Amino acid sequence: MKIPYINLNLQWQKEKKQLLKVIDKTLASGSWVGGANIEKFERNICNFLKVKHCVALNSGTDALTLALSLVNVKKGDEVITPPNSFIASTAAIAHLGAIPIFADVKEDQNIDPEDIEKKISKKTKAIMPVHLSGKPCKMENIKILSKKYNIPIIEDAAQAIGTKCNNKFVGTFGVIGCFSAHPLKNLNAIGDSGYIVTNNSRLANKAKLLRNHGIENRNNIKTFGYVSRMDNLQAVVLNERFKKLKKIIFKRRKNAALYFNYLNNLKSIKLPIETKGEFSTYHTFVIKAEKRDQLKEYLNKKGISTSIHYPYLIFEQEAYKKRYKKINVNDYPISKKLKKSIITLPINQFLKKNQIKKICDEIINFYK
Ligand SMILES: *Cc1c(COP(=O)(O)O)cnc(C)c1O
Repeated sequence: MKIPYINLNLQWQKEKKQLLKVIDKTLASGSWVGGANIEKFERNICNFLKVKHCVALNSGTDALTLALSLVNVKKGDEVITPPNSFIASTAAIAHLGAIPIFADVKEDQNIDPEDIEKKISKKTKAIMPVHLSGKPCKMENIKILSKKYNIPIIEDAAQAIGTKCNNKFVGTFGVIGCFSAHPLKNLNAIGDSGYIVTNNSRLANKAKLLRNHGIENRNNIKTFGYVSRMDNLQAVVLNERFKKLKKIIFKRRKNAALYFNYLNNLKSIKLPIETKGEFSTYHTFVIKAEKRDQLKEYLNKKGISTSIHYPYLIFEQEAYKKRYKKINVNDYPISKKLKKSIITLPINQFLKKNQIKKICDEIINFYK
């Protein structure tokens, strides 16, 4: 039995009949960029997250870059963010000429509010927490800092649609929440897509201008903008898949519960437990494991594919080192420790119970 990490082919097979119909209808309409499907997608997200505005964009990366520029992050400004995220969080900061200032994370891989406070300076223009793996950051604490120092929060919720912190959806704590609908995310398009959410009408309107060349109406250009719109085709697919979002989250949480059930007593690993007030959506299922590299190799031999999110910290990447001053990894003890022990197990909604049992059995066998 081979167990793939993800299974987009199977997703397509299951949805093909229904999606081909709406795709055909969209292409036949001749309306390929902009249009009613985009607005419908934005309404869907607003209703789901209980937020005033959603602006559909072409990627999570553009969502982050646009969001930071909307709160006026400029050249030389500092933005506080964790070092263990996907590269795009920091890339967005770099694209604006700003300086990423890393705060270490806690044992749950998410940014440590205490370290954020230590890193705040006169130059800090935004705090960008990342809800890694679909687990919420300590948003109440980060909100307190944001108020105390008057620094806006831009949330990287790319992996966390539907995640909640004390019954409130992540992405709605900060001034702007940024999401991705990349094929690997829980709510996924058939290509690149993303969106931002905000309760601030002025920022939402500005984002709508900027995503579309700064065009207000046909002949009036308000500002120099970008091409960061979501395609109509992506919106139409996302609207279909949106109908299943609650089910997808439910299934992923059920898979997590199976892992907890089978692996609970195993001393050699640590599971990503939800603490009080947390509602995780398990974009990824990251465990901490002794002898991580050997375990990964062993599972691979047994036909079980796993991943590591992420094997390097962002400041260890060439892209960072070429531009910014050197950082000593020992100043980030938790991030340094975690990157050596984390391994991501398959958790997607298409897994069967017996597949998860098989993964767990093999993990138990490995440590015997
Ligand atoms: C996926 C992801 C992004 C970028 O999203 P894209 O849509 O691929 O541009 C940003 N941050 C995090 C944490 C991500 O996982």
